[in-house]
Amino acid sequence: MAPHFDAVIVGAGFGGMGAAIALNELGLHNLAILEREDDLGGTWHVNRYPGLAVDIASVTYSYSFEPNPYWSRLFAPGAELKKYAEHVADKYDLRKYMRFDTVVTGAVWNSEEQLWTVSIADQEPVTARFLLTATGFLSQPHTPDIPGIDTFTGKIIHTTDWDDSYNLDGRTVAIIGTGATAVQLIPNLAKRAKELTVFQRTPIWVTPKIDTPIPRAVQRMFSVAPFTQRAARFVNTAILELIMVSAVLHFRQARLLNAVAASVAKLHLRTQVKDPDLRRKLTPDYDFGCKRPTFSNEYFRTFNKPHVRLETSTIERVESDGIVTVDGTKTTIDTLVLATGFNIWDVNFPAIDIVGREGRNLGKWWRENRFQAFEGISVPQFPNYLTLASPYSYSGLSYFTTIEVQMKHLRRVIREVLRRGATTFEVTEEANSNYLDRMTAKLGDSVFYQGNCQTARSYYFNQHGEAAILRPTSTVTALREASRFPLDSYNYA
Ligand code: NAP
Repeated sequence: MAPHFDAVIVGAGFGGMGAAIALNELGLHNLAILEREDDLGGTWHVNRYPGLAVDIASVTYSYSFEPNPYWSRLFAPGAELKKYAEHVADKYDLRKYMRFDTVVTGAVWNSEEQLWTVSIADQEPVTARFLLTATGFLSQPHTPDIPGIDTFTGKIIHTTDWDDSYNLDGRTVAIIGTGATAVQLIPNLAKRAKELTVFQRTPIWVTPKIDTPIPRAVQRMFSVAPFTQRAARFVNTAILELIMVSAVLHFRQARLLNAVAASVAKLHLRTQVKDPDLRRKLTPDYDFGCKRPTFSNEYFRTFNKPHVRLETSTIERVESDGIVTVDGTKTTIDTLVLATGFNIWDVNFPAIDIVGREGRNLGKWWRENRFQAFEGISVPQFPNYLTLASPYSYSGLSYFTTIEVQMKHLRRVIREVLRRGATTFEVTEEANSNYLDRMTAKLGDSVFYQGNCQTARSYYFNQHGEAAILRPTSTVTALREASRFPLDSYNYA
């Protein structure tokens, strides 16, 4: 039976588009990109909350092979990322592969026919020789199960489902959560709301954001002399790499650097907030890097405003018109914003039901054993399958590094399949367990295991207590390994 497609890619964000570009380069053009949303762009299509912007400088947060000289700021607003995604889809002619409003419910390996059967809600299943899931890390919104939340009669908005038609002017608003999303959103909510209460469970490290518009002359220079933008990218990436590799991954050897980063954040807080009690509440008691640090020049100072209040008492319940904390205080509100993030470990790894050889269910296997994927991309007993949102895959600070490492890896392994005239590839148990052991050993030096992360409630840690998202190598190493991993790490048949 011939499959419908050479490859099915789940997800039309930057990861999925990168995978399609790589497959095209190998001569595979019979592709389907299945996307549950109604348009492309992934995170940058779904998230539209006020204040949304990248927090990795745009010269780095983009494909290296498709630079955009026209970013308006050092840290581009979210809408520019969405436009950039559209540009990439058009330039690389990817829209013809995309099917929107298409919810993939699962995929099963058919050993007899040697193909994947991909189930789609309310549609006929499709089959493919190769399956790639590019469902992102932060794509399953977390809505907290707070008692009474369903009895609230005002407006509830999750940050991943922003209601552009809802007027915030003059509202009495509460926001739950103080993660990276809230850090961007809170200053903007404060500009519109009559009163704003921020419910913080765990404070977050916030450092200054050195952001500025990029003058037209510089944009023109980037356009006519692309090497200048490449140089800017190189410098920026090197700085990010230094922060990531030294302060986070080599915490054991570079505690001092980590302490310097924390001091910068504390100084930033001190210059923006005069009230010592407020400062104390906004200061984390865990090490810098346990949770993803954030960048903002406006966040802390927003709490000085008379109509903004920080509430650190634990939420007990939600009532029809407000939130009650355990100390019995009720905050009456008409609008509740949930900046409560995402569920990664229960429902996103993997985002859909994937069943491989001999009935191995990927999610069940990961949860019952350890989360693992060779080079953060392939798993034993899952032939012809590449999982792009994987344990130990996230390299560096910019997601585009991960995407490009994975593009290199997938080009190499699928090229080898085609060269041999083989039908399937499957990573060996040995290669997979060697990679897992190596990553586990390397992470031993990181802030996650050497630092004080107990109180961070960081989504980097899974239900087994393992920090299994980041790949603890430099991006240079990750890129090199993607080009040089032994081809016999895979069995070909
Ligand atoms: P997040 O970091 O997971 O933060 C969720 C927040 O909600 C936390 O403060 C959490 O408190 C709180 N929360 C969750 N459930 C709660 C409950 N039941 N009661 C009280 N508080 C609760 O999610 P996020 O802010 O959406 O950010 C996720 C990631 O997205 C970031 O780390 C970053 O990687 C990415 N992001 C990037 C950008 C950017 O690049 N521009 C912007 C936004 C987000 P606890 O900490 O106590 O759990």
